[in-house]
Amino acid sequence: MSHHCRFCSAPLSLPLVDLGTTPLANSNLRSRDDITGERSFPLAVMVCESCFLAQTTENVPADAIFHDDYAYFSSFSPSWVEHARRYAEAMIGRFSLGKDSLVVEVASNDGYLLQHFVGAGIPVLGIEPAGNCAREAEERGVPTLIDFFGKATAVRVAKGKGQADLAAANNVLAHVPDISDFIAGFKALLKPKGVVTFEFPHLLNLIALTQFDTIYHEHYSYLSLTSVERILARHGLVVFDVEQLPTHGGSLRVFAGHAEAGWGEEPGLLTVRAAEAEAHLGDPTGYRGFTAKVEKVRDDFLRFLAKTKTEGKTVAGYGAAAKGNTFMNYCRLSESDIAFVADRNPHKQGRLLPGVHAPIADPDLIGQTKPDYVLILPWNLSSEIEQQLGFIRDWGGQFVTAIPSIRIF
Ligand SMILES: [Zn+2]
Repeated sequence: MSHHCRFCSAPLSLPLVDLGTTPLANSNLRSRDDITGERSFPLAVMVCESCFLAQTTENVPADAIFHDDYAYFSSFSPSWVEHARRYAEAMIGRFSLGKDSLVVEVASNDGYLLQHFVGAGIPVLGIEPAGNCAREAEERGVPTLIDFFGKATAVRVAKGKGQADLAAANNVLAHVPDISDFIAGFKALLKPKGVVTFEFPHLLNLIALTQFDTIYHEHYSYLSLTSVERILARHGLVVFDVEQLPTHGGSLRVFAGHAEAGWGEEPGLLTVRAAEAEAHLGDPTGYRGFTAKVEKVRDDFLRFLAKTKTEGKTVAGYGAAAKGNTFMNYCRLSESDIAFVADRNPHKQGRLLPGVHAPIADPDLIGQTKPDYVLILPWNLSSEIEQQLGFIRDWGGQFVTAIPSIRIF
């Protein structure tokens, strides 16, 4: 079957990696009764040799993903809320936002970010397709429109509430099936001098650090500055600055505005452009050889697991997020490999992991069962988790992360 670029329609011929057929990474099962009806889809990423957008080849329909009981609440991660607070503070200062401004966040989740603007007396609007997240945001004092974002939604918001001084689209660009319509929305949403910031995990790090577990069906695009500049330019927007962030194993925060506004190019933009040129992200050589690195991570982890079984030791997981599900399903793990995965989010506890079918448990279960190893699945939060679970040292427990290479500590 031939595939075409979801942005520019060129035929796709350059593979990045094929992770096989797996269930959707965010589709935790309610009970064992759901196992028989569980659906799996091919999970492979290819790179467009015309616009260099790396992308999944299968389009899983959005309504299969953002269902009303979507269980992710950003506010359950303290480090994420702190990241949002610092962002708000920086943007308010840099762009002189005040009571006459409007800040819009797309995929605003439970209001974890906009609450900081509300606290500073700045009018906001959240746009969020998951109803339960939107209701949580409203309770937090963040007005929220329950909808997907695209050109039609943007035009409606601009008419009703006015255009935005600042729009934030953090960790959403990659999740949008129709990236062209999504970007067109910001062209309509922004005031003439308005700014949009996009945060996304940087493809440069995904490749350099073998972060293949950040690949999942709901994550349609894997973004570089190279591809984002091309995509924005097509819609009359230009990038004028880029910040490199530690979040999600290395993200970019890209600042863009209307091409007509005459933004100058800041040093941060030039730095990242140069780094991507050096990594060959604008030619096929930057993408070859990734599959072999992914297979090595899997094989090394499976060797560790086989050894623990031989020694009669136990492994529990921590952090029931999408990346863990990609990792465990690519490794074809089952309940016999991982007894349970602990997670602080009470909305997830009691459910079963997709594909693996191990239960998601309250973190208290770690103290009760005293596993020999705790596999930290969200390796990007590993120092935070190591601190929270420091008590496993009391019985000689150790932490394990598998990416970019196996580490036991
Ligand atoms: Zn393309």
